[in-house]
Amino acid sequence: MKVIREPREMQQTALTLRDKAIRIGLVPTMGAFHDGHVSLMRRAKQENDVCVVSLFVNPLQFNDPADLERYPRNEAADLEIARSVGADILFTPSAAAMYPPDAQTFVEVTRVSQPLCGGQRPGHFRGVATVVAKLFMITLPRRAYFGLKDYQQCRVIAQMARDLYFPPDLVFCPTVREADGLAMSSRNARLTPEDRRAATVLPRALELAQSRFADGERDPSVIQALVRERLLTEPRAGIEYVEVVDAQTLEPIAEIAQPALVAIAARFGDIRLIDSVALTPPSPEPEPLAPDPLDTSDVPHRVAPRA
Ligand code: AMP
Repeated sequence: MKVIREPREMQQTALTLRDKAIRIGLVPTMGAFHDGHVSLMRRAKQENDVCVVSLFVNPLQFNDPADLERYPRNEAADLEIARSVGADILFTPSAAAMYPPDAQTFVEVTRVSQPLCGGQRPGHFRGVATVVAKLFMITLPRRAYFGLKDYQQCRVIAQMARDLYFPPDLVFCPTVREADGLAMSSRNARLTPEDRRAATVLPRALELAQSRFADGERDPSVIQALVRERLLTEPRAGIEYVEVVDAQTLEPIAEIAQPALVAIAARFGDIRLIDSVALTPPSPEPEPLAPDPLDTSDVPHRVAPRA
């Protein structure tokens, strides 16, 4: 595995590979690898000729400097994991190289960046869109891989790619969970043992939403209240939001007649965790012949049943 730190060198390498019709699969990450990251790397490796993993803790997407400061970093361990999964290139630029002092160009995706985490973390999705746009232009991937764990991020990137005619196919991958259902996250390592136990209330609350939906409940406010009530049984959970929204637009809905998303953000101590699950009503229509590749609404996104 080659480690590249300079954006120009990475882009030159990508151009040379593309000239030889070698397909690049990109996995953008912020490091502190866990099995969620590994699942994306494996898939990128399987479906492309070369797997490029980017490791960059993007300052532009942190609205809270203390959160950026505390973000877990372990380059040596990450290098070893990426190598063992078979990544071909680890691209790990410096913040100064990605954002030189004279940089003036940023990418903003408007509507879909605003609800959910957009309300709590001003500028976050502008940072995400900007860095992903740069990574696309630097690594020139044929496909790029993202986790549905960060569902709104997937929607923002899909919208950006559609609006700006970015060429790579976007592949949105299911959330990888711990045995007790907690969605894997680099932030989980910073939970106290008590908060780690308490955090399982997130997948439990989402399971409840899924089971009520399976029983026929279609009123988003009923499901929202149920999830909130379940979260309130855990005093260590500080709820930031519980929302049931349209899975495509992330806007409020009056009834779950189209695919919907149940999304939660909650704090355990100073660690903010998010999780979500899609609720997809059975379609009365036959499957379309050519599904839109940017449409994530039918991607499996479920909480695994309790072990
Ligand atoms: P991060 O390093 O947290 O920015 O994540 C890098 C990529 O891995 C993003 O596309 C995330 O959505 C994805 N990811 C993070 N956690 C998980 C998980 N538990 N399951 C699947 N993908 C994940």
